[in-house]
Amino acid sequence: MSGLLDARGCLTDAGLAALADAAPGAAPAELAQHVTTCARCQELWLRSSSPEPRKPRLTPEEASRRRWGMTAITLGMLLFALVALVATMGYLTR
Ligand SMILES: [Zn+2]
Repeated sequence: MSGLLDARGCLTDAGLAALADAAPGAAPAELAQHVTTCARCQELWLRSSSPEPRKPRLTPEEASRRRWGMTAITLGMLLFALVALVATMGYLTR
């Protein structure tokens, strides 16, 4: 396991790779144990694991269309709730 940790006991690049390749819960115990206690290696680990590619941001037109769509859905639901309330009150006060 000497190639995975450097002289200070911190993860080497090979150690990070070994950690990244390990199945969840199956990382070498020595490495996993060190990462839980070492802020420097946690930082390295976070930086080395690349984030998921993000979806491109919405264009202003798409954002505007989506906002209007959400507004229409919300107003429709409010209207339905109002009609249902009036219908219920009418039924109950018959
Ligand atoms: Zn460390």
